Amino acid sequence: MERIFTIPVNEAFEAVRTEGTCTCPFCLLYNKLESNEIDLILGASMMEPDVRQKTNEMGFCEEHLNLMFEMGKRLPLALILESHLNSIAEKIDGSMSSLFIKKTADNAAKTLNKLDQSCYICSRIENNFKSMIETAALLWQTDEDFRQKVRETPYFCLKHFGRFVAAAKERLSGREFAEFYENVYAVEKVYFDKLREDVSFFCKKFDYRYADEPWGDSKDAPERAKKFLNGDLHILDKSGKNAGGLT
Ligand SMILES: [Zn+2]
Ligand SMILES: [Zn+2]
Repeated sequence: MERIFTIPVNEAFEAVRTEGTCTCPFCLLYNKLESNEIDLILGASMMEPDVRQKTNEMGFCEEHLNLMFEMGKRLPLALILESHLNSIAEKIDGSMSSLFIKKTADNAAKTLNKLDQSCYICSRIENNFKSMIETAALLWQTDEDFRQKVRETPYFCLKHFGRFVAAAKERLSGREFAEFYENVYAVEKVYFDKLREDVSFFCKKFDYRYADEPWGDSKDAPERAKKFLNGDLHILDKSGKNAGGLT
């Protein structure tokens, strides 16, 4: 088992259970990994040649470039961008003679298409995040306290619910998996049913017959539906402290 992640995984499940953080524990873990990576790339790793080579090669997705700007470290960011832009310019450059121009253009299109689908930060996060989901599945198998934490989780966003189930399916025996799924689906269903009810009531509130009824829990139902569907992601911890002891 990926023991290095046992502590952060346990901490995230504990946090959503006890700190009133009504979110998906995997979103919490993702955000910590993401904050950590953004900190590293704009700080300690910024000048490392092997990191620079990878950022030049992979670039950054829109989400992560936005978050890098949000950190306000403009010089380190500009240095990374300077190097990245130079590397792209070099890669798409080629002969413009009539004999080779098609090949040059084709190469540019392929290079840019590949670049569009890769992100240095996404790939770094995914490496660890995948292991964290696996760790959670294995903790379910071995640790009764953890099973209790899972049962008391507010909800899993649908993105991560699917991945958690798939990871467990791969690792647990048939009997273990059946018990696992019964428990996690119970958690998910309670939240899902209530959310659907709240969204429906939100819609009804626009009907004059319901105008005087209290909103109840419905006022932020569309926002909660968004978080449930896509996760509560890309929330940076700007405190500068290492996120959850992760490296
Ligand atoms: Zn999530
Ligand atoms: Zn990314």
